Amino acid sequence: METLDGVVVIGGGPVGLLTALKLGKAGVRVIVLEAEAGVSPSPRAVAYMPPTAAALDRFGLLDDIRKRAVWCPDFAYRHGDGSLIATMDWSVLAHDTDYPYMLLLGQNHVSNVIVQHLRTLPNVDIRWNHRVESIDQDASWVTLQTSGPGGTTRLRTRWVAATDGARSTVREKVGLTFDGITWSERLVATNVFYDFSLHGYSRANFVHDPVDWAVVVQLDQSGLWRVCYGEDPSISEAEVRRRMPERFKRLLPGAPTPDQYRVDHLNPYRVHQRCAPEFRRGRVILAGDAAHATNPMGGLGLSGGVLDAEHLAEALISVINEGASVRLLDEYAVDRRKVFLEFTSPTATANFTWMKESDPAQRARDTAMLEHAGTDRTVMRQILLDFEKLNGSRSTLSPTTSNRLSGAPKRIVREVVRTATRSALASLRSAKAAQKRLFHA
Ligand SMILES: Cc1cc2nc3c(=O)[nH]c(=O)nc-3n(C[C@H](O)[C@H](O)[C@H](O)COP(=O)(O)OP(=O)(O)OC[C@H]3O[C@@H](n4cnc5c(N)ncnc54)[C@H](O)[C@@H]3O)c2cc1C
Repeated sequence: METLDGVVVIGGGPVGLLTALKLGKAGVRVIVLEAEAGVSPSPRAVAYMPPTAAALDRFGLLDDIRKRAVWCPDFAYRHGDGSLIATMDWSVLAHDTDYPYMLLLGQNHVSNVIVQHLRTLPNVDIRWNHRVESIDQDASWVTLQTSGPGGTTRLRTRWVAATDGARSTVREKVGLTFDGITWSERLVATNVFYDFSLHGYSRANFVHDPVDWAVVVQLDQSGLWRVCYGEDPSISEAEVRRRMPERFKRLLPGAPTPDQYRVDHLNPYRVHQRCAPEFRRGRVILAGDAAHATNPMGGLGLSGGVLDAEHLAEALISVINEGASVRLLDEYAVDRRKVFLEFTSPTATANFTWMKESDPAQRARDTAMLEHAGTDRTVMRQILLDFEKLNGSRSTLSPTTSNRLSGAPKRIVREVVRTATRSALASLRSAKAAQKRLFHA
């Protein structure tokens, strides 16, 4: 049996690759085991928030990612007919962060950049086509069994970073549940060549409508855009495809016919709000979608996963290279779970709820709140600063800004109450409370 005095990363998605990169740069010996033959070509995540751009910079990746990414200075809320509700302008954070923008790029391209960087590290070995089938641990070692084209192999290691995605085998094998809900809606992610900017669209747009809700985001610099919308969960994938031209006529500005756009990719899928009860079981530590899964409204899944990878790798480096206490791993586990339960999941839930709200009175209140946020730059700044909570206890903001941020919710409440949008905030609060009850936080 092969022995590694280092870390095995299970799952070569973006979170696993980033964890391997940070560990590898610190001289830790790493093996990445990935079930597939290479980086998944599916461009799932697209949008990365300012704290994530900052983290990608600390990983040493931002310059290479920016060569291909779309720089996104603002995002828009729209009605179903495409008309503008509000634009949120990241430049309001110009004095708070060096990264006052979103980055837009398919996660497959992000992963390819990480793999290029990993290739320069002789102490990191990426093994494609290696699926982990079983996992066992005692006080000193974790033993893994993998299957692949060469047959079955056994490997033992000191530590495991479990980054094998939402359907994590590792999470199941170490006996952790994945508590939460699956949304009743079915989402359809399409990648389509259609120039939304000709119709005045921002590079990222949330379309609010009880039926024709959608997220419209520019995917890269080649003219490809992501349109993600909702479909009846009871119909077949063939029916989803058949109905697409009719849906696009309503969803796309200019009501185009199929000869006016080109669909590059279509992927119907279900979404969840789920979280493991613990992110550490002995020598196995969970990160990314293996630890938590969210609906994609607001681009928070991988945005948070990148910060998981950074925190986990730094904790492991301290334990392995400096003999620090394993309490650092528990701190990682508690901190990142808290970020998911208290920020990521309730924020994504509120975004999704607002987008598809069907009660006209509630929609009117939500619209008023968004219009207010779009015109008052103080409120806008407070709302956009909230994304810094992705950093958890490791906030990178200046102390002055952090102090202001910790007072932000009260000030936002006062602002919003003044403009009579009390119930919109109440719905956000109740979404947060429901999430807390759901995950027994
Ligand atoms: C349509 C869509 C849009 C999204 N948009 C956004 C967005 O805009 N912004 C954002 O931040 N997030 C977004 N997300 C979420 C984002 O895609 C995920 O958060 C991200 O993929 C998580 O990365 P990961 O590395 O944790 O897991 P994954 O990307 O799922 O990678 C897990 C890897 O583990 C491998 N694996 C699984 N089992 C095993 C095994 N037993 N042995 C070895 N390998 C294994 C898999 O093959 C896979 O490569 C979106 C998701 C979807 C579906």
